[in-house]
Amino acid sequence: MEKKEMVCIVCPMGCQMEVVKNELSEEGYEVWGNQCLRGKVYGIKEMTNPTRVLTTTVKITEGSLPRLPVSTKGAIPKGLMMEAMKVINRTAVNAPVRVGDVIIKNILDTGVNVVATRSMKAVSRFQSQKVS
Ligand code: SF4
Repeated sequence: MEKKEMVCIVCPMGCQMEVVKNELSEEGYEVWGNQCLRGKVYGIKEMTNPTRVLTTTVKITEGSLPRLPVSTKGAIPKGLMMEAMKVINRTAVNAPVRVGDVIIKNILDTGVNVVATRSMKAVSRFQSQKVS
């Protein structure tokens, strides 16, 4: 019998749940321990197509920092996380960047964009050099 214990991460209550495969139920799974419908939806999704929002950084040139914080604009399949990180690690942007700017469009054909989660001004080469 396919069965999984998990903590619901939809809200801070963090309900301890158990999701059990049941061909006879309407959704194909039974969920126990959830205190609301959102937990049930989350539990079944975790069994069928788990997804996560990916938060990381990309290289930025001539910015005030060497890396720019970015995030997927929505959740992408958990199984694509490593491949998405490879794409992100190959990406470099030039400052200036504004929060919400699309850094990678439709990453791995998921229909989800990777966007900047903060703005970053451009700093000239002269300003970024250390004075000795
Ligand atoms: S089941 Fe409902 S109440 Fe419990 S953690 Fe999930 S969203 Fe929150």
